[in-house]
Amino acid sequence: MAEPKENMQMEKIVSLCKRRGFVFQSSEIYGGINGFWDYGPLGAELKRNVKELWWNTMTRQREDVAGLEATIIMSPAIWKASGHVDTFSDPMCDCKKCKKRFRADQLCDDQYLTLTKGADGKYVLPAGTKCTSCGSTELTEPRPFNLMFKTYVGPVESEDNVAYLRPETAQAIFAQFKNVLETSRQSVPFGIGQIGKAFRNEVTPRNYTFRSREFEQMELEFFIKPDEAVEAICGSVQTVPETGHPGEPQPNWGWQAWHQYWVEERVRFYEGIGLSRDTLGFHRQTPEELAHYARACVDILFKFPFSKRDEKGELRGEELEGIAARSDFDLSQHARFSGKPMGVFDDALRTAWTKLPKEKQDDLWRRYYENRKRYLTKSGVEAEPAAKQATEDANGLAKGQYIPHVIEPSAGVDRLILALITNAYTETVKTDDKGKSETIYTMKFHPRVAPIKAGILPLLKNKPELVKKALEVRDLLRPWMNVYYDDSGSIGKRYARQDEAGTPYCLTIDFDTLGEKPELLDTVTIRHRDDGRQERLKISELLGWLLSKIR
Ligand code: ATP
Repeated sequence: MAEPKENMQMEKIVSLCKRRGFVFQSSEIYGGINGFWDYGPLGAELKRNVKELWWNTMTRQREDVAGLEATIIMSPAIWKASGHVDTFSDPMCDCKKCKKRFRADQLCDDQYLTLTKGADGKYVLPAGTKCTSCGSTELTEPRPFNLMFKTYVGPVESEDNVAYLRPETAQAIFAQFKNVLETSRQSVPFGIGQIGKAFRNEVTPRNYTFRSREFEQMELEFFIKPDEAVEAICGSVQTVPETGHPGEPQPNWGWQAWHQYWVEERVRFYEGIGLSRDTLGFHRQTPEELAHYARACVDILFKFPFSKRDEKGELRGEELEGIAARSDFDLSQHARFSGKPMGVFDDALRTAWTKLPKEKQDDLWRRYYENRKRYLTKSGVEAEPAAKQATEDANGLAKGQYIPHVIEPSAGVDRLILALITNAYTETVKTDDKGKSETIYTMKFHPRVAPIKAGILPLLKNKPELVKKALEVRDLLRPWMNVYYDDSGSIGKRYARQDEAGTPYCLTIDFDTLGEKPELLDTVTIRHRDDGRQERLKISELLGWLLSKIR
């Protein structure tokens, strides 16, 4: 469990977030609602910046990714096909004594125990598990609790009209795969990205906004050729080391290289917004942890103050994002459940196939057949129809057809916001000449994500020329970025206010700006948040200077 010192750190962060308008409890005036959070003025800007950066990095700045914005409520058939209706659940147990309810895996984890499955596939609590609220060992055995929020579409509340609030944004991407493919002029390999709300009726929301019931996700589904197709076209599949960036994508990359590529691209993204590699952790899922269809999954973790420590006393970190190699499971499921084809035709494959020696064709055919049959039987299709379908699929491969495989980097916006906030939070104690100490709070956000990019401060409020000039600077910058004009209180107080909001630069308009020293006419002082450094810049150069810092 987190140390008391670290809990205190979280308390201080929560208090600053409320005081400065980053995060508020949802419905606070009615006592709040557990697991729901609102973003105040500074939080809303921070969140918007993060989403925009993700969108720009993942879609606009790439040739091979298109965007999507789908509805939150979709046909319930989607959630049947994806497996969410049947298996999207967490194990839940109750304390018989104090009646508290727990997520069984978290309850075990908090006591450094491991929840295991019995021979019948049901979870069993390990001996000695205690209620973390009252200490009793009288706990019910874990039972599955489906996390999807249910609602009804239309005026009749019947089972026929049940719909779900999406628990992830990814499924809409699969359901719209063909439409996007046909309208975006993309071809495999390519991706579809989406940002949007997701809802999970978490058994125990906790750790502030980390585990909420309503949150946002930023998800990419990156569709790639199956390895057998790559091998047919390129002769072999290139594998890359499991650490480090493998460089620019290559035509002979299979799922492993693409997966490693996306892990490293995502780490670069985090580094680019101020989360250095040493604040992150990685968890490569073990074969036992992986879903049956997944080839690999790497979680990118962030070391939060509430993270637990490992045996060596190091913070373990909590999941910010999971990057999964999901084979062709998702599109295959939707093809089977909707009866609509989800495959693509690949001319390069068809041409290459005809030139392959017979033994190579047979080898690739067999491997593809085995993979398809394994997927089908694992998904509950009887052996005979599975073999028939797999034969058809492998014959399709020989003609240039396949269902794309997918690499899925799936990130949570709110968890990232919390990571950025805890990473930015800095306290310093300042003692004045009279020996009086004061704690100064600075939110050291990277300029790219900072809610306010520049504070605009006329030296004196009662000098109309200074105010006029400062408002001119504000109007110059305002169409390009979020700036904040502040003329009340001493300049020191105003700096402190901006430091707490995480504003990286303050621009002071003083008498030199007005030409008191003629060589400084139309210049401003830029004061840097993190080291108090000051420099002078021409107003005409300000916009370019600031844009180079925040983009
Ligand atoms: P966890 O194991 O922590 O419940 P998960 O593995 O179920 O997470 P995914 O289904 O992989 O999460 O969702 C992708 C991302 O969505 C997560 O990495 C996380 O950032 C975010 N996310 C998932 N559940 C929540 C939640 N309840 N509140 C906030 N963000 C969430």
